[in-house]
Amino acid sequence: MRDIALYHGDSHGWIEVITGVMFSGKSEELMRRVRRALIAKRRVQVFKSSLDDRYAGVGRISSHDGSGVDAVPVRSSLDVAEKAHRDTKVFAIDEVQFLDEGIVDVVSMLADRGARVIVAGTDTDFRGVPFGPIGTLLAVAESVDKLHAICVVCGNPATRNQRLVDGKPAPAEGPVIQVGGSESYEARCRGCHELPSISRQQTSLLDALEADPADPVILTHESLKRHA
Ligand code: ADP
Ligand code: ZN
Repeated sequence: MRDIALYHGDSHGWIEVITGVMFSGKSEELMRRVRRALIAKRRVQVFKSSLDDRYAGVGRISSHDGSGVDAVPVRSSLDVAEKAHRDTKVFAIDEVQFLDEGIVDVVSMLADRGARVIVAGTDTDFRGVPFGPIGTLLAVAESVDKLHAICVVCGNPATRNQRLVDGKPAPAEGPVIQVGGSESYEARCRGCHELPSISRQQTSLLDALEADPADPVILTHESLKRHA
């Protein structure tokens, strides 16, 4: 992973986003950056959005490979704002896709007042739609790294979160966030991602795509010469 070259002194900070499908190594990368900030003797606060409040107090970010760092569970952007200390130089937030849109303002304000803010979260939900505040975070961040996992079906780079219920692809109509369900997830590529029984809402767009235009303007290699 390339290192961030954004060190412009202590006067203002910046936002780094680590995104991608589940199992792509976002938590690993977040922890790597946190450890390096600790080696640099920075004051670091680590948060992890938690959907259920059973985990009060100190929690932990752990990667699918088992390593971990301590993290404080947060349930909302206000929670982050309240827990953020003025002297903290580096903030890290994992699972940021579960937080409300207010997190965009909170991380922007933290960066404005000089902090380096690292957020990690999955980019799309199980339907392939941008997840919570992540799209806006990608837009406002100084740095974005989009990681890929390995498609468990074909072995190519994976970019989609496949939801399975009882081992079968879950229908598109299910809720985006399902707490405590019997579901599981797999990393898959676009081609292997399965989303059954979608009630197509954008039929006019689909119809337009299916019908080939009568007289399309198609660029060829020769088009290059005409303008030379
Ligand atoms: P994320 O935070 O993006 O969900 P993690 O950092 O928790 O990812 O886990 C990444 C680790 O998951 C990888 O280093 C690898 O050991 C493991 N892993 C399990 N399944 C896959 C997969 N399909 N593709 C890539 N890595 C996988
Ligand atoms: Zn695949």
